[in-house]
Amino acid sequence: MDDQQQPGTTKRVVVCGGGIIGVCTAYFLAKKGASVTLVEKSSVACAASGKAGGFLALDWCDGGPVESLARASFNLHRSLSEELNGPETYGYRPLTTLSISITESEPSSPSGSYSSIDSKIPSWVDGPARGSRTIGSTRTTAQVHPQLFTRTLLNTAVEKHGVEVVIGKLEQVRVEEGRVGSVVLEDGRVIESDSVVLALGPWSGKFEMLASMFRVYGLKAHSIVLEPKEPGAITAHALFLSYHQQGGKAMDPEVYPRPTGEVYLCGMSAEAEVPDDPEQIVGNPESIEMLKRVARNVSSHLAEGEAQVKAEQACFLPCTDDGVPVIGELPGIKGCFVASGHSCWGILNGPATGAAVAELVLDGRASIVDLSRFSPARFVGRRSIKV
Ligand SMILES: Cc1cc2nc3c(=O)[nH]c(=O)nc-3n(C[C@H](O)[C@H](O)[C@H](O)COP(=O)(O)OP(=O)(O)OC[C@H]3O[C@@H](n4cnc5c(N)ncnc54)[C@H](O)[C@@H]3O)c2cc1C
Repeated sequence: MDDQQQPGTTKRVVVCGGGIIGVCTAYFLAKKGASVTLVEKSSVACAASGKAGGFLALDWCDGGPVESLARASFNLHRSLSEELNGPETYGYRPLTTLSISITESEPSSPSGSYSSIDSKIPSWVDGPARGSRTIGSTRTTAQVHPQLFTRTLLNTAVEKHGVEVVIGKLEQVRVEEGRVGSVVLEDGRVIESDSVVLALGPWSGKFEMLASMFRVYGLKAHSIVLEPKEPGAITAHALFLSYHQQGGKAMDPEVYPRPTGEVYLCGMSAEAEVPDDPEQIVGNPESIEMLKRVARNVSSHLAEGEAQVKAEQACFLPCTDDGVPVIGELPGIKGCFVASGHSCWGILNGPATGAAVAELVLDGRASIVDLSRFSPARFVGRRSIKV
């Protein structure tokens, strides 16, 4: 059998992993006419794809290996937003992005007592902020609510393009004579398939077929979501902070106001063991406390009493050893594809990854982005594949 879809036949594809990468892949595969089953072990967007910032940048990856993927994906986010009414359904909006330096105030000088002479700093940023630079405009930076985006895309894929969603844990990809035949779930269910896409995020490192070939590890990062009493005071400015604690080391947390009125803050990352169950991922109390401290130093609107804490959470960035995503067919296993290792840019790069993988699976090559740089074949010889 060759790899390309035969005229008159419908290719059966099982996509494993209901994060943004798996969902985007399922969406574009089904839109191109494949019969798609999405397998997710917990719930859709339960991990990083639901808990990320959702920040998008056109040109921040320029000069690096994901430049063309990022540019294509930024534009695809814009067109998907037009198609799916993104501003209403998942908080898509262009925004201005600032880099700001904050040096923690003395306890006697709370946020709100500062009035900045820096005209670029929005008035709600009333903590000890200085040195602002505009690092993104409404042409080059935007945002989505990542969980709403992922779930909206999957709902559309189900309702319009017939994607079937199965909750169950992928246990094994069955390979016969060097090509994929089916997947087996933990509870024994078997799903026959012509192709399989493994989009397991940081759990790629726990799936032996992939782990025997390359390493995907998890970097744990924390976030909080605040609901200020006066959401109208918060403007559409994403903030990349250079944050200096009193007597502590500098940090670089990020602040994303959302059109829903919420304000999302993230930072505090470190390599950590990925628990098997995504629902078991909890934030370290000290990291969460630190983010609250950052919040109150950024703005009096984000201090305790002025904002309700809606979420305190953590999730894992999926990282590869060379820092480049791994996207393509596994060498030696026809019909078995991987899409993982998107690190801190998975929300940005989800759509173009999904569209490119759909082309690769159904047409044998991707036209939207050249995927050769991302091929898992680059790891051949470094570890042996177990099937
Ligand atoms: C704090 C934080 C902030 C971030 N902010 C941004 C941002 O602003 N912009 C940006 O572009 N990126 C951001 N990212 C990165 C982005 O969130 C990730 O790159 C992206 O979500 C990875 O998506 P994924 O689908 O590969 O993995 P995940 O979202 O982890 O999804 C993997 C899915 O696979 C499922 N799964 C695993 N094993 C199995 C199995 N055996 N069977 C079935 N299902 C399985 C899991 O349950 C999970 O749902 C951020 C990440 C973090 C942690």
